[in-house]
Amino acid sequence: MEQTLVILKPDAVKRNLMGEIITRFEKVGLKLAAVKLVTAKKEIVDKHYPKDRDELWFGIGNKTLENYENLGMDPIESLGTSDPREIGKMVRVWLMDYIMQGPVLVMVLEAPHAVELVRKLAGHTLPLLAAPGTIRGDYAYDSSYLANSNKRAIENLVHASGTVEEAKYEIPLWFTPSEIHSY
Ligand code: ADP
Ligand code: MG
Repeated sequence: MEQTLVILKPDAVKRNLMGEIITRFEKVGLKLAAVKLVTAKKEIVDKHYPKDRDELWFGIGNKTLENYENLGMDPIESLGTSDPREIGKMVRVWLMDYIMQGPVLVMVLEAPHAVELVRKLAGHTLPLLAAPGTIRGDYAYDSSYLANSNKRAIENLVHASGTVEEAKYEIPLWFTPSEIHSY
């Protein structure tokens, strides 16, 4: 058995998509081991998106640069820099603002290969590239162009742990052991 952390971000909560999204997880057989609606505290979010995970912010910065190149946009003109680490740091601040914008539904899901399974159901980070049938592909349309020109994070409804290690780090940030159920 494997556990993964899923967060229904404020856009999913505001759009009343919580039930729809949970239904998709339940239909596949993922077990809801923990769930709660919370307004995320800054100290938790700060750890959830760790500042010192250089490869994460470097990667996000590089992906942002790639998007700009594909769109024929100049990153210096709109973001003031073309350094992937600087851009990654900027995205981190946007991301923290996004997830603290309103209540989020945080959950622990359990199944064999839960991490990979949930990532598959969630779909690609960029809604435009998320396949139909995935959560992001079916319910989100935000683009990096729209998001970055408004200096905000891409709204894509869900967070899901990217690896088993990430899940093991993230779950205890949001839940105490007694909040996680076995049944
Ligand atoms: P995922 O959520 O698919 O694991 P990442 O971990 O790479 O994706 O990024 C975390 C979140 O940051 C994304 O879900 C999205 O909301 C936001 N994000 C990622 N890349 C960008 C970007 N270039 N500009 C704005 N927001 C971004
Ligand atoms: Mg991620």
